[in-house]
Amino acid sequence: MSFSSLMQDLSMRDTGVPSSRHPGSDMTSASDRGSVISRQSNASRAMSYASTAATTVSISGEISSLLHGGYHHPLARQWQAERQLTKDMLIYPLFVTDNDDDEILIPSLPGQYQRGVNRLESFLEPLVHKGLKSVMLFGVPMKPGSKDALGTAADDPEGPVIKSIRLLRRRFPQLFICTDVCLCEYTSHGHCGILREDGTLNNQLSVDRISDVALSYARAGAHCVAPSDMNDGRIRAIKLKLVEEGIAHKTLLMSYSAKFSGCLYGPFRDAAGSAPSFGDRKCYQLPPSGRGLARRAITRDIAEGADIIMVKPAGQYLDVISDAKDLGRDLPVAAYQVSGEFAMIHAGAKSGVFDLKAMAFEASESILRAGATIIVSYFTPEFLDWL
Ligand SMILES: [Zn+2]
Repeated sequence: MSFSSLMQDLSMRDTGVPSSRHPGSDMTSASDRGSVISRQSNASRAMSYASTAATTVSISGEISSLLHGGYHHPLARQWQAERQLTKDMLIYPLFVTDNDDDEILIPSLPGQYQRGVNRLESFLEPLVHKGLKSVMLFGVPMKPGSKDALGTAADDPEGPVIKSIRLLRRRFPQLFICTDVCLCEYTSHGHCGILREDGTLNNQLSVDRISDVALSYARAGAHCVAPSDMNDGRIRAIKLKLVEEGIAHKTLLMSYSAKFSGCLYGPFRDAAGSAPSFGDRKCYQLPPSGRGLARRAITRDIAEGADIIMVKPAGQYLDVISDAKDLGRDLPVAAYQVSGEFAMIHAGAKSGVFDLKAMAFEASESILRAGATIIVSYFTPEFLDWL
């Protein structure tokens, strides 16, 4: 109830004239107008009425419009969130090359590097000290001749991912190690599986191969395998191989369930060297408008044994994150804030559109609001300082 309505209501009581105020407006009937005009003279009486008999004042209806008091204080504003961003929610992507001593800045991905396995420990030490809980490993084969049609290098025991898993398990026993599982970094054609002669994916061969790669990462000690290839049925195949191997109970299976094709992956492809040599990935990654298709993929992957569902990219797909939380209400939902989103935030901040830190928080909080509780983010090192 607005103050003017309250005054009017009180003046009605005093004069005994029944109120015929129209709901939701300040309009009054002609017979009421006199008491409205005398509003000012009633002010002091109203104050005293309010102070002595406030509990008898009718506050039904419009009181629900008074919201400001609930978030005036900064702490009260934080309490409005269903969940707050914490360090535990963050997974930091790492690009590990097969040149052990490399440390190469990725020009399109501000502040991010390709690093050889010998560079990991000194880089991660201060981050772990600041509270880094989890990383996601991407292998980047750089040596000439390391790529072939089958992506043989993906599970090379001397390759960058398996070597990194072993090193990190030894040096940082508390660090949770996720491994991206795909073939595109390792195939000569740059696609996420094994191809038929016509250039389309052979789903069965691809699933066989990708589940073998996932198994070798899990055997090497990865806590989590995260297939990003989008072949049909790979979650089930990986789960069955983990069961057969007797390590399903200690290996988390995170599915990139709703991975959309689009133009936000450019910097990542520079970083991972995974651009397709022909065509694109539109026939296996989801079309940006395919919300129903994403829901089907999420439902399928839950049924096939995924422990966590991921949506990628994040910011443009908040509705899909919300769907994932809805369909998988008993599973954690992860969102990958991809390279293009990260680069855009940096570019916007650089050109003065907004403050970098403020936008990094706003973007992350939106992802959490939509329903995710895990964010794969290139901002992780900054958040370890900011949080
Ligand atoms: Zn791929």
